[in-house]
Amino acid sequence: MESFELLLAESTRIHGHICAGQVIGVRMSIAALERIGISDPKGADRKKLYVLVEIDRCATDAIQSVTGCSLGKRSMRWLDFGVMAATFVNLETGRAIRVTAREEARTLSATYCPAIVDKYQRQLEAYKVMPLDELFVFQEVKVQVPDCDMPGRPIRRVRCEQCGDWVQDCRERERNGAILCRSCDGERYYQVVTDMDRVSAAPASS
Ligand SMILES: [Zn+2]
Ligand SMILES: [Zn+2]
Repeated sequence: MESFELLLAESTRIHGHICAGQVIGVRMSIAALERIGISDPKGADRKKLYVLVEIDRCATDAIQSVTGCSLGKRSMRWLDFGVMAATFVNLETGRAIRVTAREEARTLSATYCPAIVDKYQRQLEAYKVMPLDELFVFQEVKVQVPDCDMPGRPIRRVRCEQCGDWVQDCRERERNGAILCRSCDGERYYQVVTDMDRVSAAPASS
């Protein structure tokens, strides 16, 4: 694998700025891949790797950059748990490591780069050099990735009986014998704007 510096430069480019999250995400990924026996995540090992991220913040971009896993490739899954943690799975061997960023690292960072006054700058620099066990908790875990969540062609495509949208990857719902998409099953997150909305939103003419 490439060096930490190169991987950090690459993730910074993709993410758009350097931040503590990039350092955390890059170091977390390198350490986790080593522990699950993945040495060439974007090449020879790319089909063996699967990552579940528990937060949608800066570090997630770094994890994507180092591992090559992404939502679009279905090799990365986002679980909206709000925890700065990710689980790295070797699909071939079943070995999986969950890595959590330690909250204590924020305070500990002060002991590493005391000369840096700005707190965020200090954390960023400290996270580059702090030992892994001060930054992270590593847990060996078991993860069963459902067939419907795996990369590759969709297992199933069905049509919602209410709105007509096509639903892939077994995400449909069955209610009272009807096949529905999640929106029609009560999870709709949007409201379609109607002509009536437009009329009432238009400024009154004088
Ligand atoms: Zn950031
Ligand atoms: Zn529907």
